[in-house]
Amino acid sequence: MSLAQLGEIDWIRPRDLRHACEQLARIHDEGKKVWALCGCTDWMVERHIAPVDQNPLDAVALDISNLPELRGIRVDGHVMTIGAAQPYAAIRRDPMVREHCPMLAQMASEVGARQIQSRGTLGGNLVTGSPAADGVTALFALDATVTLQGPSHERSVPVTSFYSGYRTTVRRPDELVVRVSFELPKPGAAQTWRKVGTRKAQSISKAALAAVAETEEGVITRVGFGAASVAEVVLPLASVRSLVLGKNVHSLNMNDVEEAVDSEIRPIDDVRSTGRYRRHLMKVLVKRFLQALA
Ligand SMILES: Cc1cc2nc3c(=O)[nH]c(=O)nc-3n(C[C@H](O)[C@H](O)[C@H](O)COP(=O)(O)OP(=O)(O)OC[C@H]3O[C@@H](n4cnc5c(N)ncnc54)[C@H](O)[C@@H]3O)c2cc1C
Repeated sequence: MSLAQLGEIDWIRPRDLRHACEQLARIHDEGKKVWALCGCTDWMVERHIAPVDQNPLDAVALDISNLPELRGIRVDGHVMTIGAAQPYAAIRRDPMVREHCPMLAQMASEVGARQIQSRGTLGGNLVTGSPAADGVTALFALDATVTLQGPSHERSVPVTSFYSGYRTTVRRPDELVVRVSFELPKPGAAQTWRKVGTRKAQSISKAALAAVAETEEGVITRVGFGAASVAEVVLPLASVRSLVLGKNVHSLNMNDVEEAVDSEIRPIDDVRSTGRYRRHLMKVLVKRFLQALA
């Protein structure tokens, strides 16, 4: 299917989430290709790289961008919930996100450029599953939960268990990502978003780090990381986390931290950077974040 033929495929705009899930399951059962689409910022690029070798009449696009169940940002108690179809621009501007989770607002202000931010969504970022995905990286640091809706069930998966490999997820073909939720960092928690690329906008990262930490009387009581572009999937840097959790910020051994980062990441050389530079960068970013806690 060429890009010009995209106009030939069926576009369905479901009424609500239930209707969307029914349509997704039905079209899938009929053996047709079906995409649930939000901002289309990944999907259009994918159609250039991997045109579908298929009769356009056998493919259907489900426009889920305006489903009310996939929109909005709310806080219930200490938990923030963001709809999967909420664009980055709305996340970037949201006063609750800016107040409680500036790292997420910062991430949303550095995805692509303004055009991408006004269309792109966390749902699309999660499902595409690039190892450089900025939204996924921030959600890893926040230990977010991804909620999926199927034709007759809802289930939740920790974002750190959402990926089964390079650009593959545990989402079933008849499921939609509905929302993500996470416990808000406490006031005063350390939060960082560091994306290193060739330029400030429209840049996929050479490497990026999202991190959140809470301390009580110098002891690290919560810590989460998301490390992008240093493996085939975004990494939670689990060994660094277990090394520092429960430790006093003044007693952290940076050589041990460096070793833990080193042992966990597996960066490659590609058009954006070298594996060697990425390895160096990630060690520096993690150490700087932890040193700033003291
Ligand atoms: C110029 C440019 C710059 C970019 N810069 C960045 C960047 O800096 N950082 C970054 O991380 N990404 C970047 N991207 C990639 C892209 O913009 C993001 O991944 C964005 O979050 C995708 O969201 P979307 O709503 O547009 O997804 P879509 O393109 O609509 O969908 C992507 C995929 O996810 C599926 N999908 C979407 N939503 C759902 C859902 N709710 N449930 C189930 N399946 C779903 C679709 O079927 C499709 O397979 C860039 C893209 C472009 C074109």
